Amino acid sequence: MLYSVKMRSAQGGAHELGGRHISGAERILPGDQLDYAVLTMLHRAREHERGCADFISLKVEEIYKPLLAFSTCKAATAAEGHRAAIDELVRAGVSINAAARGLAMLNGLTDSMRGAMVLDAESGLRIDGMGERGVRASKMDCVDSRGYDDYLQQSGLVGDHVREALVLASKVAGAEGMVAELCWSDDPNYVTGYVASPVYGYRRIPVMKERGNGVGGRIFFVRPNTDVAKLINYLEEQVVLIKPQEALTC
Ligand code: AMP
Repeated sequence: MLYSVKMRSAQGGAHELGGRHISGAERILPGDQLDYAVLTMLHRAREHERGCADFISLKVEEIYKPLLAFSTCKAATAAEGHRAAIDELVRAGVSINAAARGLAMLNGLTDSMRGAMVLDAESGLRIDGMGERGVRASKMDCVDSRGYDDYLQQSGLVGDHVREALVLASKVAGAEGMVAELCWSDDPNYVTGYVASPVYGYRRIPVMKERGNGVGGRIFFVRPNTDVAKLINYLEEQVVLIKPQEALTC
């Protein structure tokens, strides 16, 4: 097992309450090195040249998340694909109103964004405040790339799109508050999309747009009252390794 260990310390209370920053540190470590690392960080915060911290936050998280199970919906046209996407989103816990709104938002894009929009899964309102950039999921990979490639090949899944999307969707589904993700590619020749959710896994939808259309997008639907700053930090900054749940050696 590998763990991410993060420490931040301040004097005069927590940072968010006006405390003065004393020191911070981040490590990725195997379990047997955790105790020593945590003690060293505590020591560092309390014996720092900038002063003795009276607020110390220590976060220890396992960095593995499970690979989502993969399955395919039926859809021969973009219209059928959109209907299937709404059904899948609703099944995963998104309100019908929010699902329809999200689909209309992606459909209405005139150019692709770099990242994803985050919507409240109940109201359908956009809550990330990241404008045209959106939120980018990054710092994720498979534990064992060769094992993952073998797994994809055995499952009849070819191409970089699905290889990257399944890892991305697995990290996204592991976020606190995540209900579902909707995506279709901005590659004009790749018309396939998906809805992914922690409960039903990665549901590939064969057709989500017309061939030749170079606009794609992503939406992350989250539970009402999800802490958006924490979510964005997890998606953009936290290192996550994706690991299959069963016999696979990824
Ligand atoms: P792609 O599947 O790479 O063609 O991307 C489709 C759309 O998903 C892009 O137009 C972006 O809006 C969004 N997107 C691409 N990469 C990311 C990412 N790493 N995190 C969040 N959204 C992304």
